[in-house]
Amino acid sequence: MRTACGLALAAFAVVLPRSSAAQAQLPPFVEMRVPKAPTVVMGRGTAMLVHELHVTNFQAAPLTITRLEVLGGEADDRVLLALQDSTLARALARPGITPPPPLPERARVNGGLRAVVFLWIPLDTRGAPARLRHRLTISQGSGDSVRTHVIEGGRTSVTRDVAVIGPPLRGSGWLTANGPDAQTGHRRALIPVEGTAAIAQRFAIDYVQMDTNGRRFTGDSLRNESYYAHGTDAIAVADGIVAAVKDSIPENIPGPASRAVPITLETVAGNFVILDIGQGRYAFYAHLIPGSLRVRVGDRVRKGQVLGLVGNSGNSTEPHLHFHLMDGTSPLGSEGIPYAHERFDLVGTCRRMFAECARSAAEPRRGEIPLANMVIAFP
Ligand SMILES: [Zn+2]
Repeated sequence: MRTACGLALAAFAVVLPRSSAAQAQLPPFVEMRVPKAPTVVMGRGTAMLVHELHVTNFQAAPLTITRLEVLGGEADDRVLLALQDSTLARALARPGITPPPPLPERARVNGGLRAVVFLWIPLDTRGAPARLRHRLTISQGSGDSVRTHVIEGGRTSVTRDVAVIGPPLRGSGWLTANGPDAQTGHRRALIPVEGTAAIAQRFAIDYVQMDTNGRRFTGDSLRNESYYAHGTDAIAVADGIVAAVKDSIPENIPGPASRAVPITLETVAGNFVILDIGQGRYAFYAHLIPGSLRVRVGDRVRKGQVLGLVGNSGNSTEPHLHFHLMDGTSPLGSEGIPYAHERFDLVGTCRRMFAECARSAAEPRRGEIPLANMVIAFP
């Protein structure tokens, strides 16, 4: 033990310089890491890459991120995205710091802390590179002693093998609330479960059904049965095997805070079905009506088969289907993965969730994921 300890101390003495002159020669101790490699996905005619860069300050002194560029692999010098000032600050989150620091201070990372950059990269016609790297510009110190460093890292592959699936619902008027977007709550739900932080809801959609006037219910707004979405069929997006179900949670009275049960990891999704659709992909259907599930764990189901009925159980304010694809069976602890629907029709858009909605002539979209605040119809 003593020998090992001595060696470790000797190594430490070499790594940590004593003089500030020597310190300036060393690159800053910063880790850049991409926990989940992005997959190229199409959304409304544009190919996109969606991933996060975790930046951890391993030294005592604070650092400030002043610029981030996302580049292709080593032989590919094109800059896919460059963020600085307000665009950088808006893409940054600071896990564990509440309330979030105001934008100008968000890029300052004190010793031992982490920043997460949420990236949403539209690609031009040259398409996606095979690999990505990240070039980070940071500044340290203050006044006359400000030093700027440029470091590259966070290297990752780019996956092209996107899942192609059928619809999770039938019919028209489905608003893609909290759907894929750079800023939505789903996109940014980085949650540590069993020791690993993941974003299962990276591409999640809350499907709410609207009539042509943008209304979500008729009659009493406090009754689940008043909502168009309530009781509609949630259907298998592909052939698969039922991997997990929950069916014991009563529905909420519609409203922002009226939960029928305390919200825990066990109850947050309400009644749900997880369908193993192969190749390490799992489809997740949440907030179903209790007693409405038509499947059990281990059942083989066919694409289009009814799994259960859309409801308002768990952490839900009104009847809707929360749908996402993920790489494991943990509803919050898996990584969310993108997908493409064989086809849906874009029949309208809302400027904001539930607001300023306008219908348009049906526009067929093929091989795409729906984006936030679209109104769509499934065949
Ligand atoms: Zn949701």
